[in-house]
Amino acid sequence: MGDIRLPFSNSFSQLPSIFYTRMPAEPFVENPTLIHANPSLCDVIGLSKESLSHPQFASYFSGQLSLPGSDSLAMVYSGHQFGQWAGQLGDGRALLLGQVTTPAHGQWDIQLKGSGKTPYSRFGDGRAVLRSCIREYLCGEAIHGLGILTTRALCVVGTNQQVRRESWEPGAVLARVASSHIRFGHFEHFFYHYPGSDYGRALADYVIEHFFSELMDTPDRYRFWFHQVVVRTAALIAEWQAVGFCHGVMNTDNMSILGETIDYGPFGFMEGFDPHYICNHSDETGRYAYDQQPLIGLWNLQALAQALTSFISETDLREGLGEYWIHFLTTYEIKMAQKLGFEIVTDDVRSLIYDLLELMEADLADYPLVFRLLSESLLDTTRWVSLFKSTDAALGWLSRYHHEILKGGSSHEISTRLNLVNPKYILRNWVAEVAIREVEDKANYAILDDFLTIFHAPYDEDPQFERFANPAPEGFGEVCVSCSS
Ligand code: AMP
Ligand code: MG
Repeated sequence: MGDIRLPFSNSFSQLPSIFYTRMPAEPFVENPTLIHANPSLCDVIGLSKESLSHPQFASYFSGQLSLPGSDSLAMVYSGHQFGQWAGQLGDGRALLLGQVTTPAHGQWDIQLKGSGKTPYSRFGDGRAVLRSCIREYLCGEAIHGLGILTTRALCVVGTNQQVRRESWEPGAVLARVASSHIRFGHFEHFFYHYPGSDYGRALADYVIEHFFSELMDTPDRYRFWFHQVVVRTAALIAEWQAVGFCHGVMNTDNMSILGETIDYGPFGFMEGFDPHYICNHSDETGRYAYDQQPLIGLWNLQALAQALTSFISETDLREGLGEYWIHFLTTYEIKMAQKLGFEIVTDDVRSLIYDLLELMEADLADYPLVFRLLSESLLDTTRWVSLFKSTDAALGWLSRYHHEILKGGSSHEISTRLNLVNPKYILRNWVAEVAIREVEDKANYAILDDFLTIFHAPYDEDPQFERFANPAPEGFGEVCVSCSS
């Protein structure tokens, strides 16, 4: 078998070295072991499927060996964490191997997470634990399966090395794939650390050239670009809200400049509907609670705007920020209307949406199931109504809803439409925990095949996986997720 070949183009490392530190990964004592690889990303990054069984695959995608053609580096960035300026951060445990480019799929970053210390590690060990790599691996695919922009991952590699967190845990490396890993915090870094410099503009030029190329020849390109960043961020957060996704750590260093979901840590999907839900146990004030996410999106964009004042006028930035709420609300309401099977948002539809959310909140009704079982409710209301404690209120809403929705088609047509937009499977915390326990305790790596199957097609019924569509079985215990990863 020949060596592993990827179509590296490595555009980021062509930028001046102020943006990064070029370096190799920190080696492991033992050779790493492949836990799981995701064949659906092979075409995207121009990797042959046979490469997944290459004897050195795990060594290459953990950083133990340097991948031919890569030009590895750690990026520097800064950021606001929990509302406070945190100063310089950067890839403290990640290494960008470079960019690959294919004619069909364009340019992608490949990044290792957990590959060892860098000059930006501060007090950290540069490593990642297997538990959080599995969560990120599955959640990236789950969010992608839901049609939401996100980083994804090619594989999880076990390092056969223990990592110290609250206790000793097995370590791992995640090979992450994203359009780009450039964050809001990159721009903040150059604005605050190099005042008066042109570095922020140079980075914007890179981003525009590679991801907003339609703006390249526009004289006002920076202004239009910022506008696009606002629109993409607003749309991303609207999608999160509609699907019930809580990111958990929306610091400006965890915000992608391309509006992709990035940095999965203590995330959580909404189950019993509680708008004040805080998925991250380290978030004591609820800054990143579910219902705060839209506002935090704007806060983060304001922090970004401040960092762009060196090359975009305050008037233009303010105008861009002024577009946020309308884009957020429009996208959110369209998504919610679609979840009810409507194509346009009328006043009647709007009141159905918000009345339903109020009922769900009062009874902590299961968010994904309430929407998924709407299709079944057209034939039999029993299971849907059983999701609520106040049966009369639930039945009252349902009959209003049926009356309205059945104006638009037969119950069969509507039911089909509903099942195409309301996922059967979301990555519930307990389901992620099942995956982690199977991998860590029983070395059952093949279970990740099942979970990729489920989350790549979250709208499909599959009787063998039925139980994963439901809340945690009785006695499963609470799953606690914090920033420790
Ligand atoms: P996060 O909360 O994962 O977004 O990380 C915030 C910052 O801390 C980033 O600069 C990370 O690279 C860095 N970091 C997190 N965990 C570690 C670690 N174990 N070792 C070194 N740096 C880390
Ligand atoms: Mg981060």
